[in-house]
Amino acid sequence: MASGQEIEKAIVGLLGGIQAPGGQSLVDAGIIVSMRGGGDRLTITCRNPGWPDPIRDRIDRQIAAVVQSAFPQIAQVAVDWRAEPVPTQNAPPGNAGAAATPPSLDVRHVIAVGSGKGGVGKSTMAASLAYALSHRGHRVGIMDADVYGPSIPHMLGIDAPARVADNKYQPPLVDGMPVMSMGFLVPAEQAVIWRGPMLHKAVSDFLFRVDWGPLDFLVVDLPPGTGDIVISLSQQMPVSGGVIVCTPQEVALLDARKALSMLRTVKIPCLGIIENMSYFIDPVTGNRSDIFGHGGAERWAADAGVPFLGRIPLDMSIRQHGDQGNVRDNFRAGASSRDSLLQVADQLLLQLADREQAAGPTIEIVEG
Ligand code: ADP
Repeated sequence: MASGQEIEKAIVGLLGGIQAPGGQSLVDAGIIVSMRGGGDRLTITCRNPGWPDPIRDRIDRQIAAVVQSAFPQIAQVAVDWRAEPVPTQNAPPGNAGAAATPPSLDVRHVIAVGSGKGGVGKSTMAASLAYALSHRGHRVGIMDADVYGPSIPHMLGIDAPARVADNKYQPPLVDGMPVMSMGFLVPAEQAVIWRGPMLHKAVSDFLFRVDWGPLDFLVVDLPPGTGDIVISLSQQMPVSGGVIVCTPQEVALLDARKALSMLRTVKIPCLGIIENMSYFIDPVTGNRSDIFGHGGAERWAADAGVPFLGRIPLDMSIRQHGDQGNVRDNFRAGASSRDSLLQVADQLLLQLADREQAAGPTIEIVEG
């Protein structure tokens, strides 16, 4: 019997055989958003670019027919149509740094924040980096591409998702920062099946169909581990660099190695490692304890030849502010982790400045 993944893959293939008005397949035209299902049910979420009922009804019937002829056990096939803009054509594939920034996206630096595994504080660090860069006077946007657990809207206390106007997403602004999240497309609690082509379209939408406005930094919260999102991102945008979040334990560093190797595979330079939950300061005694060990990430970064951006303590207020949707409070005057969070962002800015300096300008000597 075919596994769930094999069935999903086969269904994407089948949908790729159905033609949308305009001649492209439903998949190539970016109509398919996601699928979810189990047992004898399957729901396919589609974008409706404004097609009238008879066209959508015909597509509903075609989808049900192809799915059920291949998988008769799926008795109920439903199509959930959403009024959403369709994505643009994909940018031509190219490696990171090679493609020119498409004119519709005015961003100086895309920074991808990743981790080898979940639960190390990657989203917390991505949101905090964004705030810290904004505190340093930069224009910052946040793209929550953690498709398997989009937590940024919760951490930033966003209750209204992006609106659609002029065929573009209008992202909500949080403390002046535009924020777009996969969580706006699919409720966080739904287990969603995203396959490669859909992820590619979603990333393309998030880059080119969002009214970001001019930005100095777009901070991207990647899904944990390795995978399609970062490949897709690197194909569609020059990414200035990746930041890897890890915790100090030896086992966590094994996962961080995988994240570094992923960045290297897609030719995104690693701007550095953040050691999160690095130590604990007892708020009563002021004593410091290295709960998960000490110095592992820094030694590893040195061995791997990547910058060490700094340590963030295990701090109850970081957890509370994240849970309460108030990451901004980590930056209030006197907040316990404010300085360490700002220092990490400053190190990141230094790394970028060094790289920019190393890259140019080139001086041409003209003989005459
Ligand atoms: P990930 O994105 O890696 O899955 P999250 O950013 O969602 O991780 O963080 C997981 C949990 O750990 C959250 O409850 C968050 O508030 C908490 N957390 C993250 N960093 C810290 C820290 N330095 N101190 C205390 N709690 C933290």
